[in-house]
Amino acid sequence: MNGTSKGACVIGHPIAHSRSPMIHGYWLKQLGLEGHYNREDILPENFALFVRSLREHGYVGCNVTLPHKEAAFQLLDRASPRAQQLQVANTLWFEGDVLCGDNTDVEGFVANLDERAPQWDKNLKKAVVLGAGGAAASIIVGLQERGATDIRLVNRTYEKAEILAKRFGTSVHPTRWTELTDSFDDADILVNTTSLGMKGQAELDVDLDLLPLKTLVTDIVYVPLETGILRQAKQRGNPIADGLGMLLYQAVPGFEHWFGKRPKVTLELRALIEDNIKGLSA
Ligand code: NAP
Repeated sequence: MNGTSKGACVIGHPIAHSRSPMIHGYWLKQLGLEGHYNREDILPENFALFVRSLREHGYVGCNVTLPHKEAAFQLLDRASPRAQQLQVANTLWFEGDVLCGDNTDVEGFVANLDERAPQWDKNLKKAVVLGAGGAAASIIVGLQERGATDIRLVNRTYEKAEILAKRFGTSVHPTRWTELTDSFDDADILVNTTSLGMKGQAELDVDLDLLPLKTLVTDIVYVPLETGILRQAKQRGNPIADGLGMLLYQAVPGFEHWFGKRPKVTLELRALIEDNIKGLSA
């Protein structure tokens, strides 16, 4: 690091376990670029001030994660169409003095499936989405853009599914948790967007017996890499895709904005992060 080296960061609270520094550090090294990428643990009450003074802190831009994604959108001078659509931003950069922002989670979600389950969207019609939190909106948009015409949005708190479904049109059907397995009929894809199954959280307790064997099962939780629902799906013969690639692909546009080169999601990068995750989940 030196005085002319560009810097970026990820802002969140908590942020200690973020793998973004590993990802961007790998790309900086691989592309032979001078630069650095830090974690910044910022409380919600200090977030706006920190973002407004990003450049004084030596940063040309940042990623934003929980719990700041909505606040980040509110601070933008110019929001990408995607950020406007979702009303959240996870990637910020400057164009002159203009603070610009994008949401790259949709791109990350679909790019991961394109890589891990090629042709997943061929004849895509029906999707079952578990969870109606912050990440679910991006998943719904990604599924709709790839052709899904019937999305069952299943959430523990039904009212939240209702509110979210209304934002995305009549193809999204809010569904009660107790009706989950009834929604499996003819599903092309099942996506877990709840935090269940993540290390430190309760298991996602879902019986897949009624799920068609053709249904692609994917989880956006990536610690552990193979969550309980993915293990269960694999054992009964369903195709599966884990969520690590979503994290890797959503990082690409930010790196390009800040450091001027579009990085690649390589097998080597994936292996690096996998090793880190496996070390922690062992
Ligand atoms: P969030 O806004 O907090 O939403 C959490 C969701 O999980 C809600 O739908 C919530 O249901 C549900 N949930 C939590 N505990 C539950 C329980 N005991 N039983 C049933 N449902 C429960 O979180 P988020 O931002 O959407 O993120 C969700 C997960 O996705 C996190 O693990 C996050 O790390 C992961 N993620 C991964 C990527 C990636 O790049 N791969 C990107 C974004 C997020 P209620 O509405 O009923 O509370």
